[in-house]
Amino acid sequence: MPVSVAIVGSGPAGVYTADALVASGADISVDIIERLPSPFGLIRAGVAPDHQTTKNITKKYAKTLDNEKVRYFGNVEVGRDISLAALREIYDAVVLAIGAPLDRNPGIPGQDKAGVYGSADFVGWYNGHPDFIDLGPDLNVAAAAVIGIGNVAIDVARLLVRTKKELAEADIPDYAEDAILKSAIKDVHIFGRRGPVEAKFTNVELREMGDLENAELAIDTDHIPADAGDLPDRDKRLKERNLETLRQYSEMPRGDKPKTVHFGFYASPVEILGGEKVEGIRLERTAVENGKAIGSGEFFEINCGLVVTATGYRSGALEGAPFDEKQGIVPNDDGRVDDGLYAVGWVKRGPSGVISSNRPDGKTVAGHILADVHGKKPGRGAFKKHLQDNNVRFVSLEEWKKIDAAEISNAQGSHPRKKFITVQEMLDALN
Ligand code: NAP
Repeated sequence: MPVSVAIVGSGPAGVYTADALVASGADISVDIIERLPSPFGLIRAGVAPDHQTTKNITKKYAKTLDNEKVRYFGNVEVGRDISLAALREIYDAVVLAIGAPLDRNPGIPGQDKAGVYGSADFVGWYNGHPDFIDLGPDLNVAAAAVIGIGNVAIDVARLLVRTKKELAEADIPDYAEDAILKSAIKDVHIFGRRGPVEAKFTNVELREMGDLENAELAIDTDHIPADAGDLPDRDKRLKERNLETLRQYSEMPRGDKPKTVHFGFYASPVEILGGEKVEGIRLERTAVENGKAIGSGEFFEINCGLVVTATGYRSGALEGAPFDEKQGIVPNDDGRVDDGLYAVGWVKRGPSGVISSNRPDGKTVAGHILADVHGKKPGRGAFKKHLQDNNVRFVSLEEWKKIDAAEISNAQGSHPRKKFITVQEMLDALN
């Protein structure tokens, strides 16, 4: 009897796990269960729509889904359509690859005001994720602030000042493209509570900011340290590359582009200002001591009508699985959670690293599964029966391929696809 494995989540971590399991050559059957009809998690709904080269990784993932030992069950939500407990009864092993879809808010007064969005929501909005299409952020404001200096902050700031030409090859939904192109935003402020050495953004993403068609960059030269300090060789090299790029930006003569992206380092947000709607932010100047941001007691304010907090993500609790509220992950021992229950990717280790960082997780957990469990449980047949008995309309791989083909053929101009933005639209495309 083959070992039956259910992987919950079809983002990079889930797909790499499936890939490692089938590559092992073991007698195995792998079912990938996904909440949306569409697969690939953050590649579809997190990677910025103007980063199509990154999104191309889905071509590789599609090959894994095509493997004869793998089945795709889209439009099935664990917790709604089947409990985790029931899934564990059916499969020898269940792998949680459910990511970190929630925002880790900065926890400051005023963060609930209208016009303040967590990056999970905002990124979902400009990527056409069905949960966020109604977000309706008002971009008819003069200035926006992005809190955080990681790659998501850079993505958000860049998207806010993109032009029609720069979005021509993006798979951005029409509503988001329209809002961005009609936006009145002239200034985007990116605020980091620490400095350029501590910033989490990577150099490729930083360098892309130097090429914006419509936006100048503003950086205070005094905020750029002379060197990266005492760090391991590789880190030092990477950080010094960032310092060099920022130095070049800070020395660039001011051009006549209509928009400006301001990098504000050593500025910790303390309060979102305004009435019901955000009107500004109050920040405290900081210094970094032993890697920590220390408040100086000196405060300043800027006006802005939009705030996006890009301060990191967290997973949510799933009924039937343990959850560490503080870390926002499912507690695990190198991917092992409980008998027959495993975790990979961001729900296992928190929201860090690049796409390929999920590959080792998949390999490790595939190894654990093959060492820990034997083919004893019914697997796929029983799962399909559960779906049938409960009238769950799952989307198969063949059906996803039809949705995918329809999105591609609906694309206009040089856009690679026109995404269906509701679950119903995806299901209607199958009729
Ligand atoms: P991140 O890299 O962890 O950055 C989060 C930022 O928020 C940090 O600058 C952090 O500052 C700041 N922050 C956290 N709490 C704060 C608070 N209370 N007040 C002020 N600032 C606060 O997270 P991310 O940008 O969400 O990215 C998540 C992962 O996805 C990362 O591994 C990232 O590289 C990856 N990603 C990659 C790409 C790409 O490769 N193009 C694109 C998007 C995302 P401190 O450092 O001081 O805590």
